[in-house]
Amino acid sequence: MNETLGGGIMVTRSMLPPLEEYVDYLKLIWQSHHLTNSGPLSLELEKRLKEFLGCDELSFVSNGTIALQLALKALDVRGEVITSPFSYVATTSAILWENCSPVFVDVRPQDLTIDPKQIAAAITPRTSAILATHVYGFPCELEAIARLARQYKLKVIYDAAHTFGCRVDGRHLATYGDISCLSFHATKVFHTAEGGAVVINGDPPVAERVRLMRSFGHSSDDHRCVGINGKNSELHAAMGLCNLPRVPAALAMRQRLHAHYVQLLAGSAVKVLHSAHPNLDYNYAYFPVLLPDGAAVARTLAILAAKNIHPRRYFFPSINQIPYIQGGACPVSERAAQSVLCLPLSDLVSAEVQETVATAILQATRY
Ligand SMILES: *Cc1c(COP(=O)(O)O)cnc(C)c1O
Repeated sequence: MNETLGGGIMVTRSMLPPLEEYVDYLKLIWQSHHLTNSGPLSLELEKRLKEFLGCDELSFVSNGTIALQLALKALDVRGEVITSPFSYVATTSAILWENCSPVFVDVRPQDLTIDPKQIAAAITPRTSAILATHVYGFPCELEAIARLARQYKLKVIYDAAHTFGCRVDGRHLATYGDISCLSFHATKVFHTAEGGAVVINGDPPVAERVRLMRSFGHSSDDHRCVGINGKNSELHAAMGLCNLPRVPAALAMRQRLHAHYVQLLAGSAVKVLHSAHPNLDYNYAYFPVLLPDGAAVARTLAILAAKNIHPRRYFFPSINQIPYIQGGACPVSERAAQSVLCLPLSDLVSAEVQETVATAILQATRY
């Protein structure tokens, strides 16, 4: 991923605190000589994230992919995992890496989240979990998925990598399911350069397993289970402590850019994707649009590349069509992957840039 490299307007740009603020944290690290293994800054970040999200159990980990893998392992998921084909590839590769089998269920055309009506038909005696993505921060159908999980005794894991700052009925979207996994990668709304978190919903033994498995499965000389190294460092925690207070301003900036794009594209041939959830406080993490077809996407990308502006095809291809994965057909997801573009949202995106982007889209779709 090169969204953050210089030379042009990329789909996003990493938030950075004033350097002096980060250096102040570095001075603390130099004083303590504590670089990793649940140091004071990691513990402080976990505490503040729990307050921000309103959850009891959270583990700060090295990235969002390891968060997914720890979730699958800590919940002892085996066999088939029902999942969404319209997501970042890590959602599925985590399942494969844990030697489970992904079973793809197509998404709903309106917001590209997994279609709960199709989940039941995909359940077999080997199914043990549902791993669904709140794509673009749009909530999956939480109630319907919870009902299916109760009925068929399945675990529910949410890939909540896009949800930072989203609330549903006042509750943070990353606190649903048995476990929700966050990514704090540099390209996300809130980041620690690399990082992530496992948010455990109301099951202290599972939270304890996640903590153990994150640290090689042992606590001092007491070796309890197979683990991995999923810890994160004090330097990454420091970045998070600097960035967390800046999240509300970052969300406000995105909301403003969002509103302007909506205005510029009104009446055009593009469909601006949004969640129809009645009680969602959205984080405006992405501005996804569906163009009429793949050719219009290619034309838009070419026009804008000439102006050094680079929207992105999030997500392309549909995961079920990746050659080494090859799941069954998911026509809605496949069509969306062909025609989707995420427009640039960052502090470098001026009203003028937005007008250039909208003009290019209008030009590319006028055929
Ligand atoms: C970013 C992302 C991930 C992976 O997170 P990393 O922290 O980069 O490992 C997983 N799923 C989705 C939907 C993502 O956007």
